[in-house]
Amino acid sequence: MSSAAFDFQVTHREGLARRGELRTPHGVIQTPVFMPVGTRGAVKAVTHRQLAELGAEIILGNTYHLFLRPGADLIARAGGLHRFIGWDRPILTDSGGYQVFSLATMRRIREEGAEFRSHLDGSLHVLTPELATDVQAQLGSDIAMVLDECIATPATREAARESMERSIRWAERARARFRRLAADPSLVPVTNPGQAQFGIVQGATFPDLRAESVAATTAIGFEAYAIGGLSVGEPPEVMYEVVAHTAPLLPDDRPRYLMGTGMPDDLFECVARGIDMFDCVLPTRNARNGQFLTSQGPLSIKNARFAEDLAPPDPGCGCYTCRTFSRAYLRHLYMSGEMTAATLNSLHNLHFYLDTMRRIREALVFGTFEKLRLEFHQTFSRRPRI
Ligand SMILES: [Zn+2]
Repeated sequence: MSSAAFDFQVTHREGLARRGELRTPHGVIQTPVFMPVGTRGAVKAVTHRQLAELGAEIILGNTYHLFLRPGADLIARAGGLHRFIGWDRPILTDSGGYQVFSLATMRRIREEGAEFRSHLDGSLHVLTPELATDVQAQLGSDIAMVLDECIATPATREAARESMERSIRWAERARARFRRLAADPSLVPVTNPGQAQFGIVQGATFPDLRAESVAATTAIGFEAYAIGGLSVGEPPEVMYEVVAHTAPLLPDDRPRYLMGTGMPDDLFECVARGIDMFDCVLPTRNARNGQFLTSQGPLSIKNARFAEDLAPPDPGCGCYTCRTFSRAYLRHLYMSGEMTAATLNSLHNLHFYLDTMRRIREALVFGTFEKLRLEFHQTFSRRPRI
């Protein structure tokens, strides 16, 4: 598939796993890709220069946060989110829906949209599919997401169906608005005319609802598609099953984005099932909570047994933090509440995620992905081992 600014080519395959290149107005992204989360226009504790040095090709911004503060009008006047935050590589923005459901102090879902009170000042807003599209047009991300409904889990079949069907009606409205903005950019200040819009497949853990959602969402027609409503507390095996069922139903010539995933082993398992794009707050959030994600598994630097441990956090890692600092020093920084702890821990965790994806891409080129996947599982454990 291709348009003027947006294009995706699969270059290598191994089983269902794909190696590809995704072209956007702000550059080419090598897939499969992990996208660090820059919630409020910044990946917490890390500068854009550090992100570029880590090899991040795209970051994610949260529409809910940017909409409430500093506001989409201000960002549009500054020339869009890329210019405002000083990041010239690709950006994906979410629709704001997930934060309305998880952060807003009050919310009511109506057919029109999601009414909510700001968690900052209590002000009342209605996030509609059209408004989520407009705000992202003002932000000028390279990839915008449609507003979808996120439901509490585990969901009953009836609740999942109702929500999935509402998400489809919202997706139709979001696509109609997106097309209107393309035809008439004077409606709101469109800061990135090459922006693509992704649809989102819902349906919780019910295979038939997922299939219905894929059929209806692809019938509307988006530049690409995401799988939403996973990584919300279900066991990994359940997530893998839903991905294995859903991903092959999506168009083969478009990138597939699994929203909000996950642990390092999830990356392997979902690439193996045909996913091309990932985002997750886990590497940065866990870093700030003192947890390193290493080739062996999670390592909590708070642990007293690291007080005199002069080894690097992950002896197999080539990142700045691991090349330079000991567990004892990093524990000291964390226990003393030094701000640098968040930076150094985040640099390692982001390096680990981005480097893992790099190794996955390389393996896909050489046809050794299955071998790498087995090797990874042999050393990585979700339960702390160090
Ligand atoms: Zn490291």
